[in-house]
Amino acid sequence: MTTCNYAAPPFDHPQADVILRSADRVEFRVFKLFLSLASPFFETLFGLPQAPDGATDQETKDGLAVIVMSEDSKTLDSFFRFCYPSTLADDPSLENLTDGLSLLAAARKYSLDLIEKKVCQALANPKVLEMEPIRYFAIARNARLAHETITAARYTLRQPLIPAQFSEIELITASELLVLLTYHKNCSIAVQPLTKNLKWLTDHYGGCDACIWLFGPYYKGSCGCGQVADNRFSPWGIHPVTWWATYMQEISELLMDRPSGDTVRTAADRTIQQVRSMGCSVCSSTVKENMTEFSNLLALKVDEAVSMIQLEMDF
Ligand SMILES: [Zn+2]
Repeated sequence: MTTCNYAAPPFDHPQADVILRSADRVEFRVFKLFLSLASPFFETLFGLPQAPDGATDQETKDGLAVIVMSEDSKTLDSFFRFCYPSTLADDPSLENLTDGLSLLAAARKYSLDLIEKKVCQALANPKVLEMEPIRYFAIARNARLAHETITAARYTLRQPLIPAQFSEIELITASELLVLLTYHKNCSIAVQPLTKNLKWLTDHYGGCDACIWLFGPYYKGSCGCGQVADNRFSPWGIHPVTWWATYMQEISELLMDRPSGDTVRTAADRTIQQVRSMGCSVCSSTVKENMTEFSNLLALKVDEAVSMIQLEMDF
């Protein structure tokens, strides 16, 4: 007979009234009451009449029924932590989607609506959303969680319009994917005016004196970066310093594919590094401060424009 391992506290309690054994043979000694309160499935399971003495296939151990579960011990540990009162067990922290998905499947199987929501919320930490928003979108949509689905859709804007293959694509329909792609496209269209019309910039700074760094050669009269006669990026009709026009050109292209404030800030970080490596004594010392302020402003405008676009999905 294969030996079993014992689960970590608090699932090793000597006064527990049932043993649940995971697929990888870890035994959880738990209290029926906590699981019954959390899940109608367990309430029904534990409420079933016991088989009469002598006529039982029921495995027992230490006088307790042993119930074999199909989930592995990692999933069950997280699952039971959600079921137990918070004074006895903290909610588990879910750092990756794979663990979360197993847990979500268990929550569904055992009819734990509240836990299903908790799992999705736990997964909605910025780390998961930033790394894998499209996977999260599919999971949240499949679970019909409106807030989480919309949040995930926003995060997908940081990534190219056409996603790479991902396993959770099976969780959503082609129509739902089309809704997401349409949303992404509409957001791209909504942010285009920001790089075509710089009124938001001139309104913000009020006059060229407040952002003289945009016009390198005028700046303290000693910048060697040069200006470019690019009328698209000439606030108040003044030609900008070359590297800033390059940044604006780059951003207008990037935003078509990734219409997010994050795109603006990330590109600004690259520009700051590039300008510093060019070695202009004037721009190098001020580019970080100026471009950080500027990119935060543009990112805000991008996010405002995107916030006007609806994800056309019913919940
Ligand atoms: Zn310069």
